[in-house]
Amino acid sequence: MDYKDLANLIFPNSKDISYYEEKYPERDLKEGAIVTRIAPSPTGVMHMGGIYQALIAKTVARQTEGVFFLRIEDTDQKREIENGTQEIVTACETFGLTPDEGRTADDKDNGNYGPYKQSLRKEIYQAYAKYLIEQGKAYPCFCTPEDGEALRAKQEAAKVRPGYYGVWAKCRNITVEEAIEKIKAGEKYIIRFKSPGREDRKIKHHDIIKGNVTFPENDQDIVIIKADGLPTYHFAHIVDDHLMRTTHVIRADEWLSSVPLHLQLFHEMGFKTPKYAHIAPIMKNDNGNKRKLSKRKDPEAAASYYDEVGIPALAVREYLLNIANSSFENWRRANKDASIEDFDFKLNKMSVSGALFDMVKLQDVSKIVISKYTAEEVYNEALKWAKKYDKELEEMLADKEYALKVLGIERGNKKPRKDIAKWSDVKENINYMYDDKFYSEKPEYNYQVINEKEDIDTILKEYIENYYDDNDDKQTWFNKIKELSGKLGYAKEVKEFKANPDAYKAHVGDVSTVLRVALTRRTNTPDMYEIMQVLGKDRIAKRFEKAKEN
Ligand code: GLU
Repeated sequence: MDYKDLANLIFPNSKDISYYEEKYPERDLKEGAIVTRIAPSPTGVMHMGGIYQALIAKTVARQTEGVFFLRIEDTDQKREIENGTQEIVTACETFGLTPDEGRTADDKDNGNYGPYKQSLRKEIYQAYAKYLIEQGKAYPCFCTPEDGEALRAKQEAAKVRPGYYGVWAKCRNITVEEAIEKIKAGEKYIIRFKSPGREDRKIKHHDIIKGNVTFPENDQDIVIIKADGLPTYHFAHIVDDHLMRTTHVIRADEWLSSVPLHLQLFHEMGFKTPKYAHIAPIMKNDNGNKRKLSKRKDPEAAASYYDEVGIPALAVREYLLNIANSSFENWRRANKDASIEDFDFKLNKMSVSGALFDMVKLQDVSKIVISKYTAEEVYNEALKWAKKYDKELEEMLADKEYALKVLGIERGNKKPRKDIAKWSDVKENINYMYDDKFYSEKPEYNYQVINEKEDIDTILKEYIENYYDDNDDKQTWFNKIKELSGKLGYAKEVKEFKANPDAYKAHVGDVSTVLRVALTRRTNTPDMYEIMQVLGKDRIAKRFEKAKEN
């Protein structure tokens, strides 16, 4: 009896691997095209680290006219959560990172290299495990969990490395006859890889991000097929990335130390090895300490957070590219209006130790991104967000024509307003343009420099009665505020005031502030001319009356 008999006994129905090799041929892509993937497990909410990886993977695939696909790694079925796959698919879509190919829903695939969900590929893994057993490169292991514990205790007492390797790998030396007998007698087993490695030898490896790394060879006889017939991650991803014709494995650097094992598996299977790029985790500055962005501590670590507060996906993508390659910032400065897709992203220029993620900077990026939106785009996005998260804002936006006027203030010009970082800012930024909101606010007026009630009342009265006209253009409008200032004893120019401060009560800027505060109860607003244009004379007059009451 030989290995073939053993393999046939264990996997009697498996197909020959040539079947799969033909079914999933080399991809017909142009030279240098990168085929890469994200391969998350459906075990929890999607983390920003996953979005970061997806962005990197999609970017390099797009740049090289390659393929970016999504594979669901659900072989650890105990840890799987309900809707885990949908969560991943939705998160990718939300961030504009829909894969070219792969799992598209809980029960759907798109592409010729599927199924893209590991639990549906059981027979494929078994065929490849059989192939290894046939060559004596894998074997059934009959050790029970108790045997495992005893082994650990022995190794601890002997002060040696833990694990199933070399002389400690009890079942690697069982003869084929013995193994067949045990299986026929109904003994339970798993399948282990028979490692040809030696711990005292080193392997050198080049990682695209981490550079040259040296590791001891792997000598562990790792489990490749578990008792439930499903593969372990190590084995499954080797088979999948081979059959899905992955050229680049881009993944979290927690896997870097597994590279010796993975290279060995690829080699023993006779597969071409992909290139590896191990991404350092996203970091956060926590009171001066750099630490990993944490699902537990940081709300912004969850991919769903951005939708909830309403930060546009484009802003998140732009910011993530920004921290992924330090050259991004200069590029952006030189190419203010370019699409981020034009940025020449370099995988090998990613930070080895981990990019720093900063919500304040992300919001600054977001403000710039939103400042380039048209009023219509802002309206549509804010409304979409409001429908999900804010009834009150949804109601405010119901009058589209008016909302477009409000949102159009200081937009579409050379220096557009940059006061919206997220859709949840919109309400606060526009509510004073809505009379019902404005009049239900506590009437507090902080006029800054000019504070005498009489002076204020005079400015407001004079302005509305003798100067303001809805039909004025901006220059005329501004000249009139100067004239008003001159008439009431304020300097018409700030310069004049500075040169001769004792000659004036205050200057035109202070007069403008009085008008602005009476109108909006805010000292910081977008362009006042445009605000007045949207409000119109009657509403302006009414607001001035209200201000005078206080
Ligand atoms: N399922 C693995 C994980 O979620 C995938 C690692 C890989 O990309 O190969 O960490």
